[in-house]
Amino acid sequence: MTQKKLKVLWIDDEDKRQQDAEHLCDRELDVEFRYQGIEEISPHDLVKYDLLLVDYRLDKVVGPAKPFRGPAIVGLLRSVDDDIPAYLVSGESPSERAKFSGLTWFEESLSLREIQEPKRMRVRLKNDISGYKAISKVARGQNADRAISKLLGVPKNSQKSLLEAIPASIKAAVVRSDEAPLPSGAPEASGRLGFARWVRRVLLVKPGPLLSSLHAATRVGMKVPRFEKTHAFAGARYDGIFAKSHEARWWASQLDHVVFDKQRRTGIASGLSWELGRELFDLSGQEQPTCAVCGERYPEIVARDVDTKKEAAVHQRHSNPDPERDFTPFFAEERVFQEGE
Ligand SMILES: [Zn+2]
Repeated sequence: MTQKKLKVLWIDDEDKRQQDAEHLCDRELDVEFRYQGIEEISPHDLVKYDLLLVDYRLDKVVGPAKPFRGPAIVGLLRSVDDDIPAYLVSGESPSERAKFSGLTWFEESLSLREIQEPKRMRVRLKNDISGYKAISKVARGQNADRAISKLLGVPKNSQKSLLEAIPASIKAAVVRSDEAPLPSGAPEASGRLGFARWVRRVLLVKPGPLLSSLHAATRVGMKVPRFEKTHAFAGARYDGIFAKSHEARWWASQLDHVVFDKQRRTGIASGLSWELGRELFDLSGQEQPTCAVCGERYPEIVARDVDTKKEAAVHQRHSNPDPERDFTPFFAEERVFQEGE
């Protein structure tokens, strides 16, 4: 089967990045580089692509507005299209990047260093583009729950918790129902990009229906390396859209299902999932996590160290709600701990 190449446009006023663009190309991915005539780009030049990579500082551009910045390009695109994603590319550090204005125009911000790892970046860009394409293929007026379950590859027993967690306006946007907000041409991405943003910035980031490997391993009473080697959990791994844009994620309800199903079959007395792991999977002491505060076994949650901000497994009773948390219904409460508490 011959497949059409995925097309990316990289706009940058630094001609030496052309090489980086070429390194990203392969049989399936074409990354076009443009560093001249950026001021003449029309919105219709931009809609031919599946994804845009845009440099933030376009200082060398003799544009109508000075200084000319990346968000202006995305603004052009949004005047005619609300579906094509644009990613920011910048050589600056994340803290410098945070000071840029107009970041809401971008779906993602990539560092130059990440882009210069062509093998990884190629896989990620292809996976991301196919995610955006899958969303845009959802037919108008389709059943939103079914469409979303398919996009995310939700296992049966995780569907309820997942579908409850999605705000109604986001569901409506996916199937472009009458209740969905109209395409705005604005940076907030209210349409189907709004759904993509929710998946990439909420579902795949905040512990809730999906968990990172540390959260998942802790939930079943294992340390991460042992968890990742346990085949019984392979089916709980997230493989829906944008699966390659983050580290591995796991369906929480599917993990519980694996544990409790095994518990019933082996006839072991029922208990808590983080306590059952030891007996069910015949774990050594080395393979079980200990609480980062008291050093005892069976920490049930993951919290952030107040000082280092690093996550670790702890007992719930040794942690407190994060004072800086932002509460998202249906997602786990963020908690912090203090060593030697
Ligand atoms: Zn403890």
